[in-house]
Amino acid sequence: MINQKELKLLKASLDTLAEGYQTLPDFTPDFDEVEAAGILQTVARRMQDNYPYFHPLYAGQMLKPPHAIARVAYAMSLWVNPNNHALDGGKASSALEKECVVELGRMFGWDQPLGHLTGGGTMANLEALWVAGRLHPGKRILASRQAHYTHKRLSEVLGLPFTAVDVDDSGRMQLEHIEELVAKGDVGTIVATMGNTGLGAVDRLPAILDLAVKYGVRVHADAAYGGYFGLASTLAPETRAAYDRLTEVESIVIDPHKHGLQPYGCGCVLFRDADVGRFYKHDSPFTYFSSAELHLGEISLECSRPGASAVALWATQQLLPLAPGGAFAQGLEQSLGAARTFHERLAASDDYQPLMNPELDIVVYMPKADDAQTASKRTRHVFSSAAEKGLHLAMIELPVELVTKFAPELVANAETVTCLRSVLMKPEHADWLDQIMTILAAAAQEARE
Ligand SMILES: *Cc1c(COP(=O)(O)O)cnc(C)c1O
Repeated sequence: MINQKELKLLKASLDTLAEGYQTLPDFTPDFDEVEAAGILQTVARRMQDNYPYFHPLYAGQMLKPPHAIARVAYAMSLWVNPNNHALDGGKASSALEKECVVELGRMFGWDQPLGHLTGGGTMANLEALWVAGRLHPGKRILASRQAHYTHKRLSEVLGLPFTAVDVDDSGRMQLEHIEELVAKGDVGTIVATMGNTGLGAVDRLPAILDLAVKYGVRVHADAAYGGYFGLASTLAPETRAAYDRLTEVESIVIDPHKHGLQPYGCGCVLFRDADVGRFYKHDSPFTYFSSAELHLGEISLECSRPGASAVALWATQQLLPLAPGGAFAQGLEQSLGAARTFHERLAASDDYQPLMNPELDIVVYMPKADDAQTASKRTRHVFSSAAEKGLHLAMIELPVELVTKFAPELVANAETVTCLRSVLMKPEHADWLDQIMTILAAAAQEARE
């Protein structure tokens, strides 16, 4: 689990950091080592009560640990503990953040976006919808029924009306429903989800952009989960077409703490038109903003933010540049491949029924059953018995009408069906499918008994 190389790298990078402060009189605060050691043993034991997110047999929610370089860079920076609110608090890490944001913008084909890192996708979407509301006061926000629930809630926070758009059999927003809603004239912004959290489905951006032009509304892309997948060369043609048009939206949210190999606390919001920076104007009574250079706190709703996030992301982007064909892109391609193979193997199995083809790396499936209630019961059984065998899955509640599209024989004796969901975010998942299938077969057997 712990590669000793990491600890060596942390020590070496800390030694270099300390060299920079050598001219100061020595000041090294002390603490009681024995007492701290005891507490750390206790907290390490308590931390054992976690699912093994780092292991390929964790094939459940969108969870995985950061890359080693991100972990080391983040930890190293904590001896300074920079705050990227203002240059006074995080000079070096603010510069690193601006460089990271340039790279993220380039990945979407934007040269001069306005953007910054955030605490996560929620904060980033809050800023995007806040700007949406400033540009179209009181106008409606549309997002998919399968969009992250945060959009409905953030619209509430911002006092903007919100409507959920129905989805088709593949989990993408229905275009007819969008058009029906925008034709009413009160819609300001359509949120297109690039990889929804439940199913990994990518909304049909080309058609959404056409509707946006026709009706004069804005488009925001919530690419918190799927933003990086545009780098992959193996997307299905329709998915590729959606990613190719991302440059045309007004704003994009991407979470480096999901597929960007970062510790939690790293989201990002980007605006194509840097002019929206005017909405952030404020009069700080403090003297934070003491130089003429751009302080990130002047273009962000959050004030204090970890400079450590920028340090970690910068180091990761150096090691694994955001380039098609590079090692980072190959990792994403392996996840896509793992999801497709997993879907095929489930389809060929006697025990499971997979649902829609995975557009990204999320696979939804259920144990075979004659009716919806039995399928849900078996899902819950498989979920726990697989966990006992070391395989950790997730569950998702789906409308029975959607499930019967893929299992037409299923008797619809309930409104929803509890299904299994596996997010295959680790490139290594591809090598563990045999083991995953073996455990699933044993768990299905138990669920039928
Ligand atoms: C995860 C996610 C969010 C919320 O982001 P957090 O980083 O959890 O705050 C929003 N939208 C989508 C599509 C997501 O996958």
